[in-house]
Amino acid sequence: MPTVKYQKGDKVMGRWPGSSLYYEVKVLSFDTTSQLYTVIYKDGTELELRDQDIKNAAGFQIRSRSRSRSPSRRRSRSRSPARTTRRSSSRTVAASAAVTDGGLSSSRDTRQKDTLEVRLSPLDQTKAAENDGNNKHEKKEENNSANKVNENAGAKPEAEPEKNQARYNLRRRKDDGAAKAAAVVPEQLQREAVKVEAAPAAVLSTPLDFGGKIGAYLWLLFLPSWVLFMALQVNLEDPSLANFPPPLPPLEAFWDAQAFGFVILWILFQVVLYILPVGKLSEGMSLRSGKRLKYRTNGFFAIAVSAVAVAAAVHQGVDLTYIHSHFLQLATASFLVSVLLSVYLYVRSRYAAPEQLALGGNSGNVVYDFFKGHELNPRIKDFDLKFFCEMRPGLIGWCLINFAMALAEMKQHGLDAPSYSMILVNLFQLLYVADGLWNEEAILTTMDLMHDGFGFMLAFGDLVWVPFTYTMQSYYLVSHPNPLSVPAVAALVTLKLGGFYIFRKSNSQKNNFRRNPSDPKLSHLKTIPTATGKSLLVSGWWGVVRHPNYLGDLIMALAWSLPCGFSHLLPWYYMIYFIILLVHRDCRDMSECRRKYGSAWEEYCRTVRYRIIPRVY
Ligand code: NDP
Repeated sequence: MPTVKYQKGDKVMGRWPGSSLYYEVKVLSFDTTSQLYTVIYKDGTELELRDQDIKNAAGFQIRSRSRSRSPSRRRSRSRSPARTTRRSSSRTVAASAAVTDGGLSSSRDTRQKDTLEVRLSPLDQTKAAENDGNNKHEKKEENNSANKVNENAGAKPEAEPEKNQARYNLRRRKDDGAAKAAAVVPEQLQREAVKVEAAPAAVLSTPLDFGGKIGAYLWLLFLPSWVLFMALQVNLEDPSLANFPPPLPPLEAFWDAQAFGFVILWILFQVVLYILPVGKLSEGMSLRSGKRLKYRTNGFFAIAVSAVAVAAAVHQGVDLTYIHSHFLQLATASFLVSVLLSVYLYVRSRYAAPEQLALGGNSGNVVYDFFKGHELNPRIKDFDLKFFCEMRPGLIGWCLINFAMALAEMKQHGLDAPSYSMILVNLFQLLYVADGLWNEEAILTTMDLMHDGFGFMLAFGDLVWVPFTYTMQSYYLVSHPNPLSVPAVAALVTLKLGGFYIFRKSNSQKNNFRRNPSDPKLSHLKTIPTATGKSLLVSGWWGVVRHPNYLGDLIMALAWSLPCGFSHLLPWYYMIYFIILLVHRDCRDMSECRRKYGSAWEEYCRTVRYRIIPRVY
């Protein structure tokens, strides 16, 4: 039975990472599994420390580390762990109670050699600025308040401890990578600090993406129009994307109350499956507040029950080809739901607490913010709206629509079984969705969940775009059969499985690493530490290219389009769209990671040169 030496609330001395300096800390908790104490420094920085990095306050000799009488003097020459550059002390902890463990360090030189210079509070700044930006919606004002934040930090370094959420962990990986990594830390962190100091505005809010405010207007018009265009086009005998769009049907053709009812029923059915106390409760990543949300990850259960329910309905004589014949009305109904949901999300984001907001979506422009979304994890009690929409109605609905298209193909062509192409498209995409739901926990470390606010972009994407455009291949095959030979089927299966292997392995490797960086199964991998306390993988899948998961996904996308042949571009739409989406996503992720990790990210990019395709891109 392990003994807990220090109790919650104890004031003790905690060693600063990589140094022999000890600072006064308060014990917050002890994790019996990891055997780590969570402690809080006077500036509010929380760290996880091992027992041997904590000592009782008695026996320490307090040394003044600042030439100033004030512990918070802005341009202090203090050797505070937070001091990064001469100017940077204004933003940092300036821990006034810095002391040395007499037994450990005998000379000032030794201490200086040992001391890491660490940028302590990038997240704090970001948050402070974000809060500010959220309230004022003015970039100019943000810059002013950034300076204010810095000034305040300089004047009152120990104020508002609850605002500082940077977390550091003293555990080191015992491998080559760690050794290599450890060697680059001080310089890297120093460079990072200089960078942040020089460009405070860069860390205050994320730049507008998707073409900014004008772009948001255009996307709002373009996305629904594109779904409509595809839905009208796919039924034509010659559904060439180069064709002039077919004439719009009369307005009443868009609306069908029954279709709307089915969409609502489907969503409610998925809600019930989601809230059932079945399956694991998984923890999300740490939020800026340090909090970790819990998610019911029972997606595989949901798709399994849905499949049984659909099979039972078909057995009872329910004609699922209704989905094929009412595709437009079902898409319109889902669009309506996504708009209503987005309005609700926009309104509630205006009242959300600052720590619940994403960094983007706070431009002050109603259209842009409505499109981008601002609240990170909107919840009604424990019901997480973003997680639910991302993983359930649209994703499982995609498989349901594909299945309905297979039935429609059989009906339309008088077949006893669907064609090979239809079977492949159905199975390939079902595997993709079922795998996503089986590994549902992995979505908790993705950009959508961790960084993007929930607004129209994701709501429309989840509820309309995914189920009504990702099904274009199966819809296309209903009226445009493409016979396949057995060798072609075998080649396509091989391609799909190859892509799936890369996709699954790389996603799992990153997910496992993010969840448990000290996982012994990953100890052979090389890493680069970053100033945030998180490391970046530089070997294994993530050492081949910077987004191996995108590579696998693209190979799979190719395997989904090939069964439809080359007669038309329409079934290739997914492939084309996906290339654009992932290249853009990679760029967004690059700038987000550069902002988060600074020079460590640059180091990663120098080591792993290609983004998605080795030696090509
Ligand atoms: P990723 O899962 O690739 O997540 C990117 C994040 O991973 C980064 O922000 C960073 O976050 C972390 N990271 C990046 N590099 C490293 C590294 N070297 N070591 C450790 N962590 C690293 O991004 P997505 O959310 O875009 O994609 C997830 C999956 O979903 C992909 O397979 C993608 O193909 C798929 N996808 C599918 C879509 C579809 O419509 N079919 C749409 C979008 C995505 P941090 O450091 O903060 O942890």
